[in-house]
Amino acid sequence: MGAEMSGKSFGRRRPEEARIGCGGILWVFLKIPFMLIRATPHLGDLLRHEAATDTGAEAAALFESLPPADDEPSVAAALSALAAHDPAFDLAATSAGVIRARGVVTTARLTLDPSAARPVMSDGLWRVLAMLLLERSSHGIRLHEDATVTGTSVVSATRDRLAEELRIRLVCEGDRCEVEATTGAVIRGDRHRRTWREDWTVRRSANATTIATGGVLDNRCPQCGAPLDVDALGACVHCRALVLTGGRDWVVWNIEEERW
Ligand SMILES: [Zn+2]
Repeated sequence: MGAEMSGKSFGRRRPEEARIGCGGILWVFLKIPFMLIRATPHLGDLLRHEAATDTGAEAAALFESLPPADDEPSVAAALSALAAHDPAFDLAATSAGVIRARGVVTTARLTLDPSAARPVMSDGLWRVLAMLLLERSSHGIRLHEDATVTGTSVVSATRDRLAEELRIRLVCEGDRCEVEATTGAVIRGDRHRRTWREDWTVRRSANATTIATGGVLDNRCPQCGAPLDVDALGACVHCRALVLTGGRDWVVWNIEEERW
């Protein structure tokens, strides 16, 4: 599968992308469980749900809000368990890394250049982003956003035999909208300042621990320590390690936004 992710594939539409094509598709970065990523027909269903949220009550009910936060004691217990095996874990630093990653992904969204987001996203999520940006580009839809993150909180923390996940809720303030590039017509959102929430889930292997010199969310290769520079496969161009699998360090695994 990896060969499909080379940069040269950006320019041609794969059959599954053509099936998803729909003039009404809006920005659809909502609620994309990782399980859907390998099942493009399911992803197509998701896109259609999202495209229908302006008119469909059923879709609105499914997609309009973020999942409820776990209760605080269970989050605190999970964070304690995490710190027990990784004493260097620093929640504030990790949250700051997520904010930085959001900036990286926003750059990709604003420029419709998925390669900009490659250094922070898991393989599967980045593949979805690349597909969605291609779709938006082909329909002449551009994002405008001028926002800052004003708050963070951990709303879920899990650890099992294989992996650890943190779902970090970001409070964003600013304005954002999507415009039709040729006419400038606003087709989603508006230019008024408002506050909204986004859940960013980061994931790493259960064996991974904080890297003192900085990792993916600090723009450092978790394997060789070089400033992070990856190819389309997610391999460090210096040491060739596949650094965006989450095997060594946190990577952005999922992004959910409140409906807008
Ligand atoms: Zn490296």
